[in-house]
Amino acid sequence: MNNIIEILNKYYGYKSFRKGQEEIINNIINGNDVLAIMPTGGGKSICYQVPAIAMDGLTIVISPLISLMKDQVDSLNSLGIDSAYINSSLSNIEIQEVYFRLNTGDIKILYVAPERLEGVEFLNIIKSLKVSQIAVDEAHCVSQWGHDFRSSYKRIYNFIEALPKRPVVTAFTATATKEVREDILESLKLRDAKIFISGFDRENLKITIERGISKNIYILDYIEENKGESGLIYCSTRKEVDKLCDLLKANGINALSYHAGLSDMERKKNQEDFIYDKVDVMIATNAFGMGIDKPNIRYVIHYNMPKNIEGYYQEIGRAGRDGEKSECILLFSPGDVQTQKYIIETGTTNPFRKRNELEKLQSMIDLVYSNGCYKKYILNYFGEEREEDCNNCSNCLFDGELIDKTIDAQKVISCVYRMKRPFGIGVIVEVLRGSKNKKLIEQGLDKLTTYGIVKDYTKDELKDFINTLISHGYINYGGEFPVVTPNKNSLKVVKGEEKVYFKEARKVKKITTDNDLFGLLRGLRMYLAGEEGIPPYMVFGDNTLKEMSTRMPLTKGQLLDISGVGEKKVEKYGEKFIEKIKEYVDEKNIQVDFKFENDIKLPKGTEKKKRRTTEKEKSYEISIRMLREGKSLKEVSEERGSTIGTISTHIQTFLGEGKNIDFNISFEGLFTDEEEKEILEAGEKVGFSKLTPIKEIVNKNISYDKIKLVILKRSLE
Ligand code: ADP
Ligand code: MG
Ligand code: ZN
Repeated sequence: MNNIIEILNKYYGYKSFRKGQEEIINNIINGNDVLAIMPTGGGKSICYQVPAIAMDGLTIVISPLISLMKDQVDSLNSLGIDSAYINSSLSNIEIQEVYFRLNTGDIKILYVAPERLEGVEFLNIIKSLKVSQIAVDEAHCVSQWGHDFRSSYKRIYNFIEALPKRPVVTAFTATATKEVREDILESLKLRDAKIFISGFDRENLKITIERGISKNIYILDYIEENKGESGLIYCSTRKEVDKLCDLLKANGINALSYHAGLSDMERKKNQEDFIYDKVDVMIATNAFGMGIDKPNIRYVIHYNMPKNIEGYYQEIGRAGRDGEKSECILLFSPGDVQTQKYIIETGTTNPFRKRNELEKLQSMIDLVYSNGCYKKYILNYFGEEREEDCNNCSNCLFDGELIDKTIDAQKVISCVYRMKRPFGIGVIVEVLRGSKNKKLIEQGLDKLTTYGIVKDYTKDELKDFINTLISHGYINYGGEFPVVTPNKNSLKVVKGEEKVYFKEARKVKKITTDNDLFGLLRGLRMYLAGEEGIPPYMVFGDNTLKEMSTRMPLTKGQLLDISGVGEKKVEKYGEKFIEKIKEYVDEKNIQVDFKFENDIKLPKGTEKKKRRTTEKEKSYEISIRMLREGKSLKEVSEERGSTIGTISTHIQTFLGEGKNIDFNISFEGLFTDEEEKEILEAGEKVGFSKLTPIKEIVNKNISYDKIKLVILKRSLE
């Protein structure tokens, strides 16, 4: 089979390629070496698997992740693509069996660990076969600059050299830095390689950074609100992993841990239970996850700030590989900076490297304190120009309520001034809350006028409040033994020259809203997976079940039209899923009107879901159509599951195509008259062409979205 889109349809059940995939695949098939840099979850595997199917001969995939090979290979086989793997987890007999199948030409894709390439027996067998492609996955492992250097990756080139005929060589990674890229080209000696760097934005990921909140309370609320969803929580040390895991368990949450302190067996078991959806929450150090392919991780929480943006972006990239809306939440406290500095100071002796790492840490800290769009910051960091705000990060979606905290801030700051020498946060908390601690009294701190003046905060809340003051620059915190000291902003606050407003922590929200058919299909999937002993996602992904639950296919033909349903899967599971859908449709008496790429009626009480964009009608056209039908902006955004910002971008796209808005758009409920007036006045002063200058002079709780909308409204009048 050589039509690549046919391969994509038939085996994977996907309708179209993602950005970049098609060009990469065509290059490989034409024999050009390729280095492709795509974000985690971007869809690299298909880039080497589709050519493997299209070309004559065997594709060897070199992957560092023994723990993942089995799942990857099982997945491929379940799609009807003949595959196998060889690594140290197989017995000798099993390896011989793979060799036998290789010799009979029964294998299209072979996964191997890099160490295997050095074996003579392996080389001899491969030499006698027709090899069409060597694909090096996680190719950054060749680089000492990367974070996962593997010395055996250095010897891949020797293996390729030893083959009688050099196949096309391809390399894939998510790490974009220049040093790593050059190392890959050099070490694998790629020939005139075409380099593809695809956009790093993962649009389905929402980025939230919370400063100065109670991390534990936040996490407990969040997990409770998102029960049944898969989530991953990263901590910076083993100790913290264990502590948090105990806390969650004590609160009745089924959580497991993963770090280097556990035995291999425990790690393997925990990882498996997570992948098989037997537990919802995995708490881990950064030892967990390189290449974790679980597609339905709905949230990644960072309990601590990671030490650089590369690591951070890779870790959050593990959320939402299936393309569904997912959340990435970083819970920051100033202590995280100290911890990371300590890890760098003690872990690195080479002064050059140390400086490099400290600089990277500083970029991470700057991200956390940034007031602009987080995504824009991150993409710029990776060298991608980006002007638009993402409208999908907590800075863009600034919707918390601002509360005047000036008086509490004055209490804390005056206490800092009155201490006889600088102290850490803990002591200040004790003084403010009037602790009877003996040491405190011995030092005479109970004589201060600020002793015991803050009563309405718990210890943790007060600590968080002080951390928030620090992160907003109202007091300083630092030093070898970190202490709190006043700065020039402190003075302004005590003198009453500056008011302190903090955003009240937002209420945590559900990531997705399920309809009940989705739940039923999930149940069926769990059951079928259990029978076969495979992870549920291998039956069908969440996104596939979601589409089934809204479009309700009732025949095999219709089922094939669902994204993620290929021929093999229809054969295997089709009837069972159709039966379940039929039951549901009959019971609820739903008129199913299955149309290709079209709306269907939903039973009362179920929400409409965001639908795939189609070639017939582009995403922005759907929004325009709905607006034309008289729906308000707010209604369109809710029905489509998009932000208002996205819908207003759709309108801009429409205008940009040179079309006219010949219908009314209702901005009802999106901003108040006063807000509109304020924004318009600000615009008159600083111009309407950029949002930020307006944002800077209007009231703090007027969001970017509101400014954008008022400007849009103005331009339509
Ligand atoms: P990574 O780049 O991190 O290796 P994967 O290759 O694991 O990403 O792909 C991530 C997910 O995206 C997988 O579930 C994969 O099946 C899915 N995917 C890849 N390409 C497409 C496509 N063209 N259409 C729909 N889903 C796709
Ligand atoms: Mg991958
Ligand atoms: Zn943003």
